[in-house]
Amino acid sequence: MPIRILVAEIKQETSVFNPQLTRYEDFHQAHGNDLLSARRGTDTEIAGALDVFAEADEEILPIGGMAAWAVSGGPICDTDLDRLIEEFAEAVTRHSDVDAVYFCLHGAMAGEQEGDPEGRILQRARNILGDTIPVVVSLDLHAIFTPLMHRNADVFVPFHTYPHTDQYDTGRRSAAVLLQLTRGEASPTTARISLPMLVRGDELLTATGLFGEAIRMCQDIETSECGLAAGVLIGNPFTDVPGLKSWVEVTTNSNKPAADLAARRIAEFLWNQRERLEAELVSLEEAISTSNNTEGLTVFSDAADATASGASGDSNAILSGLLGRSPDATSLFQGTALLSVVDAPAALAATAAGVGATVEVSLGGTRDPGRFDPLTVTATVLSIHDGHFIYESGKPEIAGATTVLRIPTDHGHVDALVTERSIYVVGRAVFTAHGLDPAGYDVVVAKSPNGFRTHYESIAAAIVVVDVPGSTSANLHSLPFSRCPRPIFPLDEHVPTPEFVPEAPSSS
Ligand SMILES: [Zn+2]
Repeated sequence: MPIRILVAEIKQETSVFNPQLTRYEDFHQAHGNDLLSARRGTDTEIAGALDVFAEADEEILPIGGMAAWAVSGGPICDTDLDRLIEEFAEAVTRHSDVDAVYFCLHGAMAGEQEGDPEGRILQRARNILGDTIPVVVSLDLHAIFTPLMHRNADVFVPFHTYPHTDQYDTGRRSAAVLLQLTRGEASPTTARISLPMLVRGDELLTATGLFGEAIRMCQDIETSECGLAAGVLIGNPFTDVPGLKSWVEVTTNSNKPAADLAARRIAEFLWNQRERLEAELVSLEEAISTSNNTEGLTVFSDAADATASGASGDSNAILSGLLGRSPDATSLFQGTALLSVVDAPAALAATAAGVGATVEVSLGGTRDPGRFDPLTVTATVLSIHDGHFIYESGKPEIAGATTVLRIPTDHGHVDALVTERSIYVVGRAVFTAHGLDPAGYDVVVAKSPNGFRTHYESIAAAIVVVDVPGSTSANLHSLPFSRCPRPIFPLDEHVPTPEFVPEAPSSS
């Protein structure tokens, strides 16, 4: 008899500061064997897990449950979230006789009211499956890690890289732990320490920054003889919910003292250097003058409108600076720039006008009108697309009506990829798929705080993180936090030093 393992996924990353609700229809879905075949061979967690199952000594039969994933965005409409959780639970119920379960979660979803969807999902699943079926969960390291989640899975396996490049490997690590549990080879015991801090900035880059040192400490314990999984969950700071904070978690095979010791060392290390874990931002003025003085490509990171972090994607703050229409930037931009704006009316109007037409459209401010005023531009329609393209990870996207507009400036032009729906603007594929080569521009705007670096460092002469408004601004003081526990670094001046004592043991 093969070992039957249920594989299921539900993912979205929420910025509660984005007023645009995420709806049921925004979620892509795959079910059953379609889910497994859609993921096989891609750069995803499930692909990694499936490969480990295929390589195992014993016969493993993976069973596809439900996968639902949406582009990061605003809170999920409550009734839509209820429907998704219900359907997810139904898929678990259909396969509740499996031997083990692998859930691939992001971890930073939020509803309009619901602050802990993943906790609810895992609790539902645990109630359906019972206490004896091993459940392993992989998480993005931006997950909001909550006690309800802790209680309802055996082991959590977080990403180890930022920018995230280890999705496949995280799936492999998760599957390896799950097989150990399924064979009865491991009895997990976890130490978890929470830290009242929200972190941003370059020091989070795991290849070069301070955070990478903490991750290497995690990897040391995870790969030690007793290690099962370890990581640091820093939370998506824009998922302002009661559970928002950072966590260190270390799971060993029945070695509580080793888990406690490692968790404590890693937590102290991060807390003591928290001042270095804030973003360094430059003004729009300074960014434009950096580009003017740089030979080659300058990448502007618009972390504030990072659709990857949950922002609305309709910011025109940098666009207006490049066009010389921002009061925050008096330097005249010289050269060519490439950026993106989510704007359904503009995308549809340009599509209707046709390639080669000159159109006057308003760009931006359709989704987050409280932050961005519409900007009227006269542009030439360079190209029109159906919006179907594939990211570097292998995941397909549907951008809806998509057009490239060329907006002339006094000393060059700005090319804007205008899409009907929100998309990730992290890698280069989003541009090359629409006939735009980022390497050929003086400025490319990535709507991403750090993930873009993986794709741009080899072609960028300079990188600047620009301080402009947006619902995912790295300038955390600019956002109206109301639900996360206070005091918390860096929002509050005096945050008492935590005791670094692991939460009550939660081996299960
Ligand atoms: Zn993340």
